[in-house]
Amino acid sequence: AWDHCLSIIRDNIPERSFQTWFSPIRPIKLSDKVLTIEVPTSFFYEYLEEHFIDILRKTLFKVIGADAKLEYSIIVHNNTHNSKPYAVKIPTQNKSDLTNRPVSMPMGSNSTNNIKNPFVIPGIQKLNIDPQLNSDYNFQNFIEGECNRLARSAGFAIAQNPGKTAFNPLFIYGASGLGKTHLAHAIGIQVKERFPEKTVLYVEANKFERQYADATRSNERNDFVHFYQMIDVLIIDDVQHLAAKQKTQDVFFHIFNHLHQSGKQLILTSDKPPVELEGLEQRLLSRFKWGLSADLQVPDFETRKTILQKMAYKDGIELQDEIIDYIANHINTNVRELEGALVSLMAQSTLNRKEITIDLAKDLIDKLVSNTRKEITLDVIQQTVCDYFSMPVDQLKSKTRKREIVQARQIAMYFAKSKTKSSLSTIGARIGGKDHATVLHACKTVKNLLDTDKRFKSFVTDIDKMLEN
Ligand code: ADP
Ligand code: MG
Repeated sequence: AWDHCLSIIRDNIPERSFQTWFSPIRPIKLSDKVLTIEVPTSFFYEYLEEHFIDILRKTLFKVIGADAKLEYSIIVHNNTHNSKPYAVKIPTQNKSDLTNRPVSMPMGSNSTNNIKNPFVIPGIQKLNIDPQLNSDYNFQNFIEGECNRLARSAGFAIAQNPGKTAFNPLFIYGASGLGKTHLAHAIGIQVKERFPEKTVLYVEANKFERQYADATRSNERNDFVHFYQMIDVLIIDDVQHLAAKQKTQDVFFHIFNHLHQSGKQLILTSDKPPVELEGLEQRLLSRFKWGLSADLQVPDFETRKTILQKMAYKDGIELQDEIIDYIANHINTNVRELEGALVSLMAQSTLNRKEITIDLAKDLIDKLVSNTRKEITLDVIQQTVCDYFSMPVDQLKSKTRKREIVQARQIAMYFAKSKTKSSLSTIGARIGGKDHATVLHACKTVKNLLDTDKRFKSFVTDIDKMLEN
């Protein structure tokens, strides 16, 4: 039966995929319409599930019948078999249903952690992995302006010739919301379009870190390294998150060198230029500078307008110039906020069935702008309290136990607790180097005084007003 299945599958998928993914499979048994196949690794199992499940289901339906089931057996390292860790149910309904992806269900109690180690790829020379790219972030909808010209054109050049330009690595940096992630995906997508056989992988530095930690814990560090060393275009987003992660930096250094030496392309993004990245090893920083560092800047007024026009157009609406100008004038921080403003505006107009008029736009944008200004941070609180009591901020942070200062400090702690998400210990550390118990005590004291001391209460109310304005 399995041979019959194979011949059908072979006719329906590219020969290379067939060789890679189906020839290593061994049929184990067929009983009660349950076909058990043995796959070399859990990575294999996951790959089959993700990419070939439809063809598998159709084929089993044809060969075995409506209530066929497929079970996988995975070879584990000590050469014994995991017993039926996962089963795929082939539904019995009509044919149109067969295109739906089935749910894979853990079977039995020992099955919860059989699927791990996605990095082992024995015997497979060419890695066929999901590049983790978001197709919405492409070059077609990445709007060009003075603010991104260098980064965009370097990225574009790389996509035509990965690993072969002088831009290796390409290090894209800039503040949040300026398009680093978008551009990084766009490069990957373009590479995949031009060179489908190239292995591209987008990964956030945090995820890379977690994968590495997991791999180390389960003694799979080598598999992890091999996996990454097989990639043709590696995109790591937000590398600043590797700061102070010594071990991860070491392994990344390794991978970086290997890829770079083999002419593979590296694309990195960060919120800061290499020189300002604290907590990263010098040897990594110097490598980051080997290729090209290109920054993304806040778009100028004209580019902001273009961005808004194109975004609106994409959503099928046309905005009056006056409205575009108003938004572009008032939102000048980053592209993410421009996008956010537009989305809120459209939501408002849809919800209230109102046309998007300049008045509606003004109203909303003014609210948005004042909201973003209003972010109350620990610094803002300390500054406001000190302004109110006319004392310098370092007094508040000092160890002094003068009564007025202690009181001001307690009020600052009280607001820090009620108006920010900071933990008690962070608040304590930032306001006078105290511990969390002191902060807790301060909050209680303030609450008590609010009930008992009118003058004190008026201080607190005034400061509250100042903070909320
Ligand atoms: P970053 O990674 O720098 O924080 P993102 O790439 O996530 O920023 O961009 C934030 C949002 O702004 C995304 O929705 C992105 O599509 C959009 N965006 C950023 N730059 C541009 C641009 N030049 N053209 C079109 N959209 C952009
Ligand atoms: Mg990003």
